[in-house]
Amino acid sequence: MAVSSASAWPTLPALPDPATDAVLVSGLLEELSYAFGGPFHFLLPEAFDTNLQAMRAALDEAGVAGFVYYAKKANKAAVWIERCAANGAGVDAASVGELRAALGHGVRGEHIVVTGPAKGQDLLRLAVQHGALIAVDAPDDLDALITTALTGAARPARLLLRCLPPAQPHSRFGMTGAELGTAIDRCVQAGDAVRMEGFSFHLAGYALQPRADLAGHLVDLCLKARARGLEAGRISIGGGLPVSYTDAGSWRGFLAGQHRGHYHAGRSFEAADFYPYHSPVAGAEALRAVLAAHPEGHGRSLAELLTASGVALLLEPGRALLDRAGATVFRIQGVKDRGDHRLLTVDGTSLSLSEQWFHSEYLPDPRLLSRDTAAAAGTWPASVGAATCLESDMLTWRKIAFPRRPRIGDLLVYPNTAGYQMDSNESRFHDLALPPKVVIDRTQAPRPRWRLDRHLV
Ligand SMILES: *Cc1c(COP(=O)(O)O)cnc(C)c1O
Repeated sequence: MAVSSASAWPTLPALPDPATDAVLVSGLLEELSYAFGGPFHFLLPEAFDTNLQAMRAALDEAGVAGFVYYAKKANKAAVWIERCAANGAGVDAASVGELRAALGHGVRGEHIVVTGPAKGQDLLRLAVQHGALIAVDAPDDLDALITTALTGAARPARLLLRCLPPAQPHSRFGMTGAELGTAIDRCVQAGDAVRMEGFSFHLAGYALQPRADLAGHLVDLCLKARARGLEAGRISIGGGLPVSYTDAGSWRGFLAGQHRGHYHAGRSFEAADFYPYHSPVAGAEALRAVLAAHPEGHGRSLAELLTASGVALLLEPGRALLDRAGATVFRIQGVKDRGDHRLLTVDGTSLSLSEQWFHSEYLPDPRLLSRDTAAAAGTWPASVGAATCLESDMLTWRKIAFPRRPRIGDLLVYPNTAGYQMDSNESRFHDLALPPKVVIDRTQAPRPRWRLDRHLV
């Protein structure tokens, strides 16, 4: 195989981010790696605030009444909930633990939406007690909720009815048109025990037009439900706003050029299984585009349809609120060099990079922080393995085009990992410590200011 001409090794640099760069050049990561003696994550709450404000601005500019709930499953840290509480935003919780964390870190019950299928009795009771909005997933989920509301609840159960997307009929979530009809009947019969506030969906994939189309359909459903005397004044379009991790050219070049020779052990990946690491329209811009799109069968934009119908738009972004809000730091413990087989071993595992567990790969290039930057420059392609005894525990199968030969003791920083990468799979495998989360409250001069996250275990 040809060795080390840069073009032979596609690169996927993360989009520039001054806040992350400020942390990288500050020397703080070296100190923290020494202090913790293992991998760690750092979190940038200012980025979360910025993303939240941008989404609210998109709603305001379109003249649409709306509300943003942070989908908590994307990252367990307490700091995001603290930011939601401070900014008057909501939280999307899907378990008793998540609901408890949201309440415990100061989010009002009325600002929580409870999603997830077949919710247990404990979750329903706690949600009703605190006035949370509950996205009902199935007829039996509705029965359980009505029973909860009728037996000793101090207040009516606030609910949305979740719709099975007609374009994704194999989804295991939501109700068919017929089931929704029955559910509406039951809400009418339940009278004051429930407040039927509208409908919801969450679509797999990241395409925008299908979200506008289904939102248009839900507005129609609201109007029909109102004719039955129900409140039906809001719809939730779930999450799935795309995040752009890299530039268009790098992404295009990577997809066109990647082949097994680019990966450790000749492994190959289906391009369709990769997250779309570049999106021309992402985050709040994607929300703007959904609001401006004309839903199928409607002669006007979704924003116009919502305002004309007096329907508020709820959204539950996870990944998009966490864009650029954190990164993950490992120390290199070993460097194997067998010519065309080069492998770094770091002090953590792929459990801290969840994408590796879904027949896929987290593709944004990790940044090499060397103590000795005088090391000879020259492309040095290498894959990254974990400090475990599993052959398949690879943080990066791809041979990354490092700009020089890494050394033991160098740091490897995986960028933009806050959205889903950090902690959904982490465990104490091999008795390794869970990587701590460091909140960087200030990235700038005179020095970054850091503290540990306050997640309650
Ligand atoms: C996972 C999930 C979300 C968040 O999705 P993102 O892709 O992180 O924005 C929102 N709503 C529901 C119901 C979900 O299951």
